[in-house]
Amino acid sequence: MKSPPLGYVRAMDMPDVFRLRANAGPDARVLAGGQSLLPTLAFRLSDPGTLIDITRVDALRGIRLVADGALRVGALTTHAELGRDALVRVRVPVLADAVGLIAHPAIRNRGTIGGSLAYADPAAELPAVCVALDAVVIAVGPAGERRIAARDFLTGLFTTALAGDELIAAVEFRPMPGRRTVIHELARRSGDYAMAGIVLAAGPGTPTHDPRPVFFGVGDRPILATRAAACLAVGGAAALAAAQAALDGDLDPPSDQHGGPAFKRQLARVLLARAVNSLIDARDAR
Ligand SMILES: Cc1cc2nc3c(=O)[nH]c(=O)nc-3n(C[C@H](O)[C@H](O)[C@H](O)COP(=O)(O)OP(=O)(O)OC[C@H]3O[C@@H](n4cnc5c(N)ncnc54)[C@H](O)[C@@H]3O)c2cc1C
Repeated sequence: MKSPPLGYVRAMDMPDVFRLRANAGPDARVLAGGQSLLPTLAFRLSDPGTLIDITRVDALRGIRLVADGALRVGALTTHAELGRDALVRVRVPVLADAVGLIAHPAIRNRGTIGGSLAYADPAAELPAVCVALDAVVIAVGPAGERRIAARDFLTGLFTTALAGDELIAAVEFRPMPGRRTVIHELARRSGDYAMAGIVLAAGPGTPTHDPRPVFFGVGDRPILATRAAACLAVGGAAALAAAQAALDGDLDPPSDQHGGPAFKRQLARVLLARAVNSLIDARDAR
């Protein structure tokens, strides 16, 4: 199908974005990589009237360390840039690992971290990584900046805490010395959205220290499995089995094109075991 008739304007800086948005009205959408927005237009799932291209806005670009040692990743950072950035590889390697699971190179070359968070697909990798690492989303609007914990930012199925006149400026990842994070997912084909996935952060030192298992593709948003985390934190030989059983209380997966709740829960149990074993292997390899 073809998209509905659209206006197109290009913003050159942040004041321009706010001015163009105010002129275009509440339905207008900002255009970043276009890898989710353009398909929804083609399927006529949305009719924004005007697209505001933000890809020339330098204030939304760049990956750099900021005053408190956090890594600030600009909203327009593409998936491909995340995957090859040296600072990301050292400071937040799981971000780069996640990129390898997203779609295909053509999509990774255009899709952005800001777009992925704003779109809030519950099966997407980057929002789950942000929740597992307790990242902070920097929202910016005409009134200034707002800092929102990733967990609070993702409020439901394709919905976020962004106000209508705000956009995502950046995401910040605090330094977490010694902490290790792994991502695993199960997809029907390489490059497909995950049927289910997990990001597990833990440590320093041991997978039982402050574990944060976050599942994606099994709910309306990334889900921090707090009951399973409490079981893992106890440690010992029975911890993993207890954590797998506890997932029944953490997850209430809806049916989707891949299967029903029982199938999704089984995927989650398998993924939890894989993630815990990966962290153990990584610790033992040191
Ligand atoms: C075939 C295919 C397969 C894919 N597979 C995967 C996958 O496996 N995993 C995955 O995670 N993703 C997947 N994607 C989606 C891809 O990652 C997108 O790039 C991403 O979801 C959106 O980023 P974007 O920059 O393209 O955003 P756009 O498509 O430009 O925008 C998406 C939405 O976010 C809004 N938006 C964009 N930037 C901002 C901002 N800075 N502030 C506020 N709102 C903003 C837009 O207005 C729009 O509503 C796939 C896409 C395709 C087409």
